[in-house]
Amino acid sequence: MSKEMIETLVKRWIKPGIRALSAYHVADAKGLIKLDAMENPYTWPEGLRREWLELLVNTDVNRYPHPQAPEVKAALRRTMSIPEQADLVLGNGSDELIQMIAMSVGGPGRCLLSVEPTFVMYRMIAAFLDLDYVGVPLRRDDFSMDLNSVLTAVREHQPAVIFLAYPNNPTGNLFDQDDLRSIVEAAPGLVVIDEAYAPFTEVSMLSMVGRYDNLLVMRTVSKMGLAGLRLGLLVGPSPWLEQIDKTRLPYNINILTQISAAFALRHQAVFDQQTEAIRRARDLLFKALRSLPGVEPLPSQANFILLRIGEGRALECYRRLRERGILVKNLHGTHATLEDCLRVTVGTPEENSAFLEALKALL
Ligand SMILES: *Cc1c(COP(=O)(O)O)cnc(C)c1O
Repeated sequence: MSKEMIETLVKRWIKPGIRALSAYHVADAKGLIKLDAMENPYTWPEGLRREWLELLVNTDVNRYPHPQAPEVKAALRRTMSIPEQADLVLGNGSDELIQMIAMSVGGPGRCLLSVEPTFVMYRMIAAFLDLDYVGVPLRRDDFSMDLNSVLTAVREHQPAVIFLAYPNNPTGNLFDQDDLRSIVEAAPGLVVIDEAYAPFTEVSMLSMVGRYDNLLVMRTVSKMGLAGLRLGLLVGPSPWLEQIDKTRLPYNINILTQISAAFALRHQAVFDQQTEAIRRARDLLFKALRSLPGVEPLPSQANFILLRIGEGRALECYRRLRERGILVKNLHGTHATLEDCLRVTVGTPEENSAFLEALKALL
C-alpha cells in the first residue's frame, strides 16, 4: 500500500476536527533540568521507597485491580477533606475525568465553555468528542476574568459544561471566588472547577460541593508529587457522578497505582513538606524574576510562574535556556495573549538558581 493511498483513506475517515488538531506536545527532557511540566522535583526518602517496594513485590499483577479502588478513595477523602455527602469518581489522571465528563454531556450541538488562555485539554477533548468549544478571553494585562463577558457567553451558548481551572494554567492566577459562584448560579449545565494546583494555594471550592446542584470539583495527585501514577478525582453530587461513572472504562486505575497511591497518601506529611518547600521557593523565584530588567512575572498561586520577556525574546530565551540544559515551557505562539511568554515550573532551590543564573546571563 502506498503512502498516498493511506493518506487518502486517513483524509476520508479521520474526523476533520481531529485532523485539524496538533497533538499534545511533550518535549524531550533527557539530560535537562526539567522545569516544563509542573512536576514536584522531590523524590521519596529512602526508607519510604523500601517500604513501598515491599508492597509492590507482593502485588499479584495477574489479577485485575479492584474496579472501584476503595482504599484509594478512602485515603483521598481523608487527606483532601472531601465533604462526606459528596460522591467520588477516580480517573487515570484528571485528563481522563475531563474526557468522561465531556463524553457524558457531549455530542454535536452541545457546547463546552472555558476561558482563554487555559489548560489546552478542555479544547482538545471538546474536539475529540465533537462538542462546540467556546473560550472566553481573559483580560490581557493580568489574565483576570471579565465576569460580564463570561456571563454573556453563558447566556448565548448555553454550555452543557463549563471548565475553570482554579488556579488557572498557564497563568497561575486565581479567579475571584464570587465570580465563580455567579457563574455556577448562571450556568444552565455543569460547572467543573479544576483544582489541579490545590496543594499550592489556600483557596478551594471543595466545601461548596453539594451547596450547588451543578458544581463539580476536580483534583489530581499529579502536581502534589505523584504525576507518574496518573490519578485524578472528581467530587460532586451522586446523581451526576453515577451517570459520569458509566463512561469510565473498567479497571481504569491500575493495580500499581492503587497500591502506590494508597501507600503514598498514608505518608501525606512527606508531600505536605515538599509542597510547602515549593511554595516558599515560588515566592523567592517570583521576587528574583521581578528584579530582572525586561522580565515580567505574573504572581502565581500554583507551582509555576508565567513570565513575559520583553522585545520579542521569549522564543530565543527558551532555546538558549535549553542549550544551557534547562527546559521550560515556551508559550510564545500558542495564544494571542501569550506572546513573549514562557512558563517555568518551580523546582528545587538549586534548579531555580540554575534557571535564574542562565536567564540573567541571556538577558
Ligand atoms: C496538569 C493539569 C491537569 C492534568 O492533571 P492529570 O491528573 O495529571 O491528568 C488538569 N488540569 C489542569 C489545570 C492542569 O494544569
